[in-house]
Amino acid sequence: MNSILPTRRLFGPGPTNPYPEATVALGHPLLGHLDPEFIARLDRTCEGLRQVWGTTNARTLPLSGTGSLGMEAAFVNTVKPGDVVVIAVNGLFGERMCDVAARCGAEVVRVDHEYGTPVDADRVADAHPSPAIIAAVHAETSTGVRSDIRALGEIKGDALLITDAVTSIAGSELRADDWGIDVGYAGTQKCLGVAPGLAPFTISDRAFERRNTTPQSWYVDLGLLGGYVGEASGGRTYHHTAPVAMIASLEAALERVLAEGLENAWARHQAAGDALQAGLQSMGLELFAAEGHRLAQLTTVKVPDGTDSAKVRSYLLDHYDLEIGGGVGQYAATVWRIGLMGPNAHPASVTLILGALEDAIKNA
Ligand code: PLP
Repeated sequence: MNSILPTRRLFGPGPTNPYPEATVALGHPLLGHLDPEFIARLDRTCEGLRQVWGTTNARTLPLSGTGSLGMEAAFVNTVKPGDVVVIAVNGLFGERMCDVAARCGAEVVRVDHEYGTPVDADRVADAHPSPAIIAAVHAETSTGVRSDIRALGEIKGDALLITDAVTSIAGSELRADDWGIDVGYAGTQKCLGVAPGLAPFTISDRAFERRNTTPQSWYVDLGLLGGYVGEASGGRTYHHTAPVAMIASLEAALERVLAEGLENAWARHQAAGDALQAGLQSMGLELFAAEGHRLAQLTTVKVPDGTDSAKVRSYLLDHYDLEIGGGVGQYAATVWRIGLMGPNAHPASVTLILGALEDAIKNA
């Protein structure tokens, strides 16, 4: 599923470890995408997504593509050529936002932050007096840092706020409406514990009304996608063939997360991350992300001097069926990224990874 989920073995063979219900749903006989049963399923999925986003936005839906499609959709639907878009960059996915926004004709104003540190809302506010859009990543998977999106909502003024919640959704507190998020996109493969392939997406009425009505994308033009999710006025119309198996899987995972309780799921991720980070530090390892802003679901840790990062990662795969990620960009060989997401945010995963990593550092 995700190259940084560390527990192949605990949750079954192979590199994907969704919740069991989500896996089973993938194998159910397929419903036609216009079958009323499927349409009811899509409705339930959109409603479940509203809950995990913390929104009442009518336009909340799973886009048919990965998290990056969500990012494309966010920018192509909101940016008009020449718009000033202030983007907080504190990792790879903020960088990607700049690329996507520039391709939409935005005048991108980057606010660069040192990797490993959170977004500074004051610096974002000072970057431009009247941006059309402000954008930031809530949970930077490349660096293991959580940023304060509520603070950006407080300083956004008249701008629209775009938020990447790919790694935070269902794993960290996320309250789109309370925090002033106008457009949000996420992925299924992280804390929702579903295979990759859908992008949970939400857009407020305010942002929809201000959208670019002639985006260069046909596929994710939200003006056209209304019929796909049966917006009241036009009824349900064909737009593209819904990925029915993936939506069944997402629905099953959402049911599970909501039955657990969203706040309980956040707390479970937090407890697992805290335990992992305490354990790593007691092994003498140093964490990469700034204290107080560390993600629980994705821990970044510095590779100890004299240790070969790649050898340790191969050893973990070969001896423990565990996959951890390397660092990103200049940190490729000096940082490890350890994910504890969805079903893997569990004490057993923490015990396993700590023991396995200790062995690997000594013996790889
Ligand atoms: N944003 C963040 C924070 C991510 O972690 C990722 C993927 O890991 C993406 C965007 C892109 O999502 P995808 O790889 O599903 O296209």
